Amino acid sequence: MHESSLGKEVLRLVLARADEEGAARVCAVRGWIAETERLAPEAIAFHFEAHARGTKAEGARLDLALRWVEAECKTCRSHYRPEHHLLLCPACGSTEGTVLGETGLAVEAIEVE
Ligand SMILES: [Zn+2]
Ligand SMILES: [Zn+2]
Repeated sequence: MHESSLGKEVLRLVLARADEEGAARVCAVRGWIAETERLAPEAIAFHFEAHARGTKAEGARLDLALRWVEAECKTCRSHYRPEHHLLLCPACGSTEGTVLGETGLAVEAIEVE
């Protein structure tokens, strides 16, 4: 369950930020997640909400931009979207590929009370 660990990671960043800002409560979160796979936003939100229960971020609104990072085949140079981190060119079957762009996640802003 990859979305589960992403949801928890977003929460960890949000709570660290809330502590830094001395906030009592987080109402909204804005950020992005870029991955070499398709992500299910509702699954990320579900895990975020479940783990946020009883914390400062309970009930916070999530506004996450999800990006599916493409890869380029080193053999035939075609671009494709990897299936769950797996670099496998659908055009020629090569597993030699380069991920185009940055993966990872960030919390850009939080709205606090
Ligand atoms: Zn994954
Ligand atoms: Zn190829």
